[in-house]
Amino acid sequence: MDKLAKYKSMRSNDKTSEPFGGESPDSKKLVFVVQKHRATALHYDFRLEIDGVLVSWAIPRGPTLDSGVKRLAMQTEDHPLDYRNFEGQIPQGEYGGGDVIVWDRGTYIAQREASKDVRETIADKSDGDEVMLEGLKKGELKFLLDGKRLKGSFALVKTKGFPPGKKNAWLLIKHKDEFIKEGYDAKDEITSVVSKEVLP
Ligand code: MN
Repeated sequence: MDKLAKYKSMRSNDKTSEPFGGESPDSKKLVFVVQKHRATALHYDFRLEIDGVLVSWAIPRGPTLDSGVKRLAMQTEDHPLDYRNFEGQIPQGEYGGGDVIVWDRGTYIAQREASKDVRETIADKSDGDEVMLEGLKKGELKFLLDGKRLKGSFALVKTKGFPPGKKNAWLLIKHKDEFIKEGYDAKDEITSVVSKEVLP
């Protein structure tokens, strides 16, 4: 099955400059990207490489390093790996029309909860893929991000019945560690981490 079938069905590659394929840039580590996207509504697209695609969530208020708040994250269609480099304009009238910058990017390590207190990290990339695929099925993902802005341990947890009628709702949660920043707000960082682009 083509995991990108839904992505492709939503876009015409003669009308948008968004990527349609790509390979993993790193043979040893899984990658992630966060894109700030000023479409009809501003949001941040949080994407984790899992089994050859970027599994994606739209986070209206953006990710945070504040462990005291949870951010609603709506799962969207899987994106191709080359999307991690995409910045620019999606034409108005096309799906997701509006500006995109790479707000954060880096690698990540999957985590398995061995017990309540000990979180086992998964160093091997293919084992990481497997743990993340299991987590997707269970509706609970744990991972260590190593980006320019986002660092440390996070969880994405699928909600049950909240918000009402939303089937794809998850919560992004920052675990307590040395990287927490109380009151951190994604909207205070308006620059791309890969270019000089600014998107307020
Ligand atoms: Mn988006």
